[in-house]
Amino acid sequence: MQIKLTGKTALVTGSTEGIGLGAAKQLAECGARVIVNGRTQQKVDKAIEAVIAAVPNAEVTGVAADLSTSEGGQALFEAVPEADILVNNLGIYGALDFFETDDETWQQYFDVNVMSAVRMSRHYAPAMVDNGWGRIVFIASESSVNIPSEMIHYGVSKTALLGLSRGLAKRLAGTGVTVNAVLPGPTMSEGVQNIMAESAARNGISVEEAGVRFVQKHRPSSVIQRMATVDEVASMITYTCSELASATTGSALRVDGGVVDFVM
Ligand code: NAD
Repeated sequence: MQIKLTGKTALVTGSTEGIGLGAAKQLAECGARVIVNGRTQQKVDKAIEAVIAAVPNAEVTGVAADLSTSEGGQALFEAVPEADILVNNLGIYGALDFFETDDETWQQYFDVNVMSAVRMSRHYAPAMVDNGWGRIVFIASESSVNIPSEMIHYGVSKTALLGLSRGLAKRLAGTGVTVNAVLPGPTMSEGVQNIMAESAARNGISVEEAGVRFVQKHRPSSVIQRMATVDEVASMITYTCSELASATTGSALRVDGGVVDFVM
């Protein structure tokens, strides 16, 4: 199976690190023109360099914009008016007890995790429809369906993405634009590495081993009993963005290592 995305423009939000950067590299490898995004020009430039280091002939540019705000969204739309592929990857996470999660934090999670994706999809979908082809992918989480008691605010924001994805898929029925959600499980991205580094230092173990212990303790239903790699998640995103995935829409696709105990 070969994935060819030559001639397609792919925008990946929140892609200066982690799963987003992994997806940007793979999409570039398949021939797409890729746009990376983060909040600072410095990190965007570093991400562009990382994509070129992985894929020397990559066509890659970047836009520094905080997509949790409508002004940030507007700046991106001006720089990149159209895209064939939109990966709504941007998302923040962190453990915080429900009774300590104030309104401001709830609002922040909705602004970053949900409203950024609403805004991006509302802007980019119409041209995809006019072109008769497009791919929209929301990066949700196993926490969308397996709400973690230590970060309910995060889980709820990710459940919202499943509703958004399914609804938009139906709204765009018959247009050639597919809309799906990808649900990663615990994944060793930069963001998670930073969290694991603390427990690794405390226990005198490697970050990888800290990841395994996290999965065994906090996600015991995991079938793989380890964290996924960024590339393992990016592969599902890249396939979903391909021509080959034309009959997959309105779906919630798990890359959770089997954490979610569903039979389908
Ligand atoms: P990460 O923290 O490693 O990287 C996040 C990226 O987003 C960085 O490039 C950061 O600069 C950028 N960013 C943060 N706030 C931004 C903003 N307001 N505007 C623009 N860019 C911004 O993240 P990750 O772990 O790779 O997670 C990526 C996505 O996958 C998120 O939506 C996350 O919820 C989801 N996810 C991650 C895991 C995991 O275990 N890593 C599991 C399930 C779902």
